[in-house]
Amino acid sequence: MSEVAGRQTQAFQTEVKQLLQLMIHSLYSNKEIFLRELISNASDAADKLRFEALAEPSLLEGNADLSIRIEFDTDRNTVAVVDNGIGMSREELVANLGTIARSGTSEFLQNMTGDAKKDARLIGQFGVGFYSAFIVASSVTVESRRADVAANEAVRWESDGAGEFTVENIERAERGTTVTLHLKDEEKEFAEALRLENLIRKYSDHIAFPVLLVGGDEKEPKAVNSATALWTRSRSEITDDEYREFYKHLSHDFADPLTWSHNRVEGKREYTSLLYLPSVAPFDLWNREAPRGLKLYVQRVFIMDDAEQFLPLYLRFVKGVVDASDLPLNVSRELLQKTPGVEAMKSALTRRVLDMLSKMAGDDSGDYPKFWAQFGQVIKEGFVEDRQHADKLLKLLRFTTTHSTGAEQDQSLDDYIERAAKDQDKIYYLLAENYATAKSSPHLEALRKQGIEVLLLHDRIDPWMVDHLPEYEGKSFHDVGRGDLKLPEGDGAITQDAANEEHKKFLKKLRKTLKERVETVNVSRRLVDSPACVVASEQDLPPQLRRMLESSGQAIPETKPQLEINVDHPLVKRLAAEADDTRFTQLSNIVLDHALLAEGTQLDDPATYVQRMNALLLDLQPDSDAA
Ligand code: ADP
Repeated sequence: MSEVAGRQTQAFQTEVKQLLQLMIHSLYSNKEIFLRELISNASDAADKLRFEALAEPSLLEGNADLSIRIEFDTDRNTVAVVDNGIGMSREELVANLGTIARSGTSEFLQNMTGDAKKDARLIGQFGVGFYSAFIVASSVTVESRRADVAANEAVRWESDGAGEFTVENIERAERGTTVTLHLKDEEKEFAEALRLENLIRKYSDHIAFPVLLVGGDEKEPKAVNSATALWTRSRSEITDDEYREFYKHLSHDFADPLTWSHNRVEGKREYTSLLYLPSVAPFDLWNREAPRGLKLYVQRVFIMDDAEQFLPLYLRFVKGVVDASDLPLNVSRELLQKTPGVEAMKSALTRRVLDMLSKMAGDDSGDYPKFWAQFGQVIKEGFVEDRQHADKLLKLLRFTTTHSTGAEQDQSLDDYIERAAKDQDKIYYLLAENYATAKSSPHLEALRKQGIEVLLLHDRIDPWMVDHLPEYEGKSFHDVGRGDLKLPEGDGAITQDAANEEHKKFLKKLRKTLKERVETVNVSRRLVDSPACVVASEQDLPPQLRRMLESSGQAIPETKPQLEINVDHPLVKRLAAEADDTRFTQLSNIVLDHALLAEGTQLDDPATYVQRMNALLLDLQPDSDAA
């Protein structure tokens, strides 16, 4: 930091530097969006002033008509966005336009690829904002006076977007902010009346404040937008493009939303809501602390951003506005929590979002699979947390199944039921660490042979989710990786005892040999191609959940799995015929180790496994017949 005559030069935070670089590079083909972003900020500033003036009316003194002016000068090649909103103090200016406070930003920026198209999509996850000015400007000057400070405490901020900015105190007669872009030579078009007028019309018709164009031959400022808040207009008068533009204004997202729902509720509690589902998840979706929620208005007066009281945590990706007629204007976050009726609004808005999703899931636009790929895990989280709407959520869940062609979660429970045999009274599922393990799991073999579909659950949250799966359409859920596998009644279905009966002696010997490591050994009715598999007992935690809890440092009581063997498999036949005790022990341990490995479990004692395996390999006699 250096100071020359009250003027400070300061370096941007590293993240800002990276973001600036990235914006200029990746958003160049959409450079005109800078105007949307700056008008958006100006409109927010006007909203905030009106809000602060509720408590302190003197803030509006001198000029109660809030508006946004776009001033251009073709000769000097400049365009400025001027507002008479809340303004910024020196500290605010330095913090807002010199740093990024969002946690996880630097990790996010490291994911950038250098490929402009991909990065543009990623930037959408972040939100565009003020820095987009540098796409078209060689330098930017911001002059601002906060509504509650004196004229001689205004500030000027200046930067060429390279690495530093300067700040100094100035005089400014009016409150509010002027953002002046000194356009690059090749961006002259943004200092031309017609181009600007078209852009403003496109970007700001939904903005609640008048946007005026000033400059060129016209002496009088020209009002360009209709200056009515979009959500107050009737649905039939709003075009899809206007809805999309409004979304971008709200969210600073670069991508279009997937869908939206605009409703007015009349009756006991009157409110209007406009809810959007984004097409791309924000980079901090998994940060449960990140700000979330709707923009709250009371009778068209902005009250707060990120009002999280109107939707449950798992719907944190929803963007939108709620404008309530009968909340007090001085409502605070604390007050909202206690206000009767807010809870009912939350339920109603949650249902709206879920209805929007059901509708999307039911049409064949292809939007729901897109949605699920981005937000499916959060919907599962909702299914676990929001028991009130569990029925609706259950229908929204999508799974990878043995019917799917890849790892994509593309099958609903209805799809499953439609394909299942009439007399199949269970929905079968398998929990696994990842898709590859699930797909080739030995536990699926008998089911596959009988043509029975199995849900392959391989998300982190799945072990929790299955705890809440009761039954669906009269069919109960059944874990194929644990305990007694209950296959549909029919040809050849036999009980565990009957299956064990013929091999009693062999089982007894195996149980004795492996007694330290397994609870018991059974003849498998689920294996076809593999020699063996491990299954969890009914009352045990699923192994995936156990591993997760253990890795988070929780102490879990030790339990042993059950081993199941496929008595028709040549390797198991060979084991049964083994007369030498040492070799029997060696081989049976290897069979168990392989069953554990196939399931994704790490061996407790890998070195011993390797020794046993090596001994076995050395034992192999060169086959004289084959030579
Ligand atoms: P975002 O608007 O997404 O928060 P920006 O980078 O566009 O991000 O702006 C950062 C912050 O700077 C804003 O949140 C706001 O507090 C402040 N700001 C930007 N423009 C203005 C303005 N015209 N008047 C008052 N504050 C502003």
